[in-house]
Amino acid sequence: METSRLCSSVIALIAMNCLALSEVYADEVLVRLTGLRDCSVESLHADGYDVTSVNLNQDYVDIFIDRADISTLEEKAQNIKILPESWGSLLPSNAANAGYYYSPDENWDFWTDLAATYPDLVQSPVTIGQSFQGRDIYSICITSSSGPSDKPAIHFNALTHAREPAGNSVMIDFGMWLATEYDNDTMATFILDNSEIYLVPIVNPDGYVANMPGGGNQRKNMNFTTPVTSDGIDLNRNFGYQWGYDNMGSSPNPYDPTYRGSAAFSEPETETLRSFINSIDPIGSIHYHSYGGMLIYPWNYVNQPTPHQSTFQSWASAMTAQNGYQYGRCGELMYPANGDACDWSYENSEHQTCLSFGVEVDDNGFWGSQNDSTAIADFSTECRFMNKMLCMNLLNQTGIEYESETGYSGMLSVEGVSPNPVTNAMNLSVRIPSGSLAVTVYDLSGRRVDEFSLENPDSGDCQLKWVVPEGTPNGVYTLIIQSGSQTAGSRFTVLR
Ligand SMILES: [Zn+2]
Repeated sequence: METSRLCSSVIALIAMNCLALSEVYADEVLVRLTGLRDCSVESLHADGYDVTSVNLNQDYVDIFIDRADISTLEEKAQNIKILPESWGSLLPSNAANAGYYYSPDENWDFWTDLAATYPDLVQSPVTIGQSFQGRDIYSICITSSSGPSDKPAIHFNALTHAREPAGNSVMIDFGMWLATEYDNDTMATFILDNSEIYLVPIVNPDGYVANMPGGGNQRKNMNFTTPVTSDGIDLNRNFGYQWGYDNMGSSPNPYDPTYRGSAAFSEPETETLRSFINSIDPIGSIHYHSYGGMLIYPWNYVNQPTPHQSTFQSWASAMTAQNGYQYGRCGELMYPANGDACDWSYENSEHQTCLSFGVEVDDNGFWGSQNDSTAIADFSTECRFMNKMLCMNLLNQTGIEYESETGYSGMLSVEGVSPNPVTNAMNLSVRIPSGSLAVTVYDLSGRRVDEFSLENPDSGDCQLKWVVPEGTPNGVYTLIIQSGSQTAGSRFTVLR
């Protein structure tokens, strides 16, 4: 796409801002490129394309583009496919709100109601700052009155990118689970007795409102004028760690989707998140985005490991054991991105080290589940497991021990699998807190390969043996163990 064409379409868009969003976006489609030729994700970014998702393992790149501009992609990939309309920006004809995603008003009502229903656990939403257009950005704290008085904070946020509502659904699900399962589920009880969970469900309320009633394509904030004319600033490139380091995944061009703004923290939304995170001083965080099915950890500004690489890697392996998300650094999975929120929250001298992850929820495009409550429930449950595992790992690391009903102190965990790769039989070393254990092995597409259970193994360290079933193809597999309400897992490879 030539820059001039991009600019003129944006100017046209601004001129049309009195029209309904559906009319503005009616000609934009989501296309999937497979088999890139003579170009890279970096060069597509540099050319100003709106790259919405990348999966280098599965060899695809998705781009939001005017239908009239699709021909500019023809030389760049072996295959170009327009994705189904439900993946794009077309609105359901009678949508009064955001469908099964929560609209801004519904979101506020949900948290206010949850706080009224569970006043001992859920605090009413608290305004932590204002957006560019003056809307409140709010946080919700969930914790119990039991446990130590000085509990560590763990932070989750969503909708920094306004067209990515899946992360907000994950916030709703996680808050609901914590509140309703406290005193029922030992893990929910443990988390709330030992930490304060801080959720900021809508970091970019202006953009989210602009995208109502769902289906809109606004990614950035709604600051179109300061200090230069633009179509908004990419808040997730506006954070203060390595802001604009080398233009990777971060653009100085005001009309690019990844425009980083005039200076680090130039935007009220990022400045709000900055002061908020500094004030709660969290030990860990997840920044939710969509879509793509990925768990990402720093560094993001360059494709290099942090001093916490081995912790990030082993936690990510456990966190993704159930949903099979790919995990790694941004530069390994997609492309490096300067000045993102995750790097800043991890390496920031203004507060303690915060083990920060980013998630690309495995939604069907940005708005693809708008009319599909089952899909929203499914991806929310998958992400709930990641949230739980992060909390458990963080608390475990700070020396707070999990005690199950049986009195065994510690988490259910897979301590080791060997040999890996496995040929015929594998030794499993696990730690079990309670009286029964179920083991299930899945392939990468989620198909059950084998399962077995033990009625009363000794609690504590336990050695098991698993024989690879005849005919199991070579490949990567996921092993999930379950005991009581706990789940843990590991990946391994079968190589015959
Ligand atoms: Zn995003």
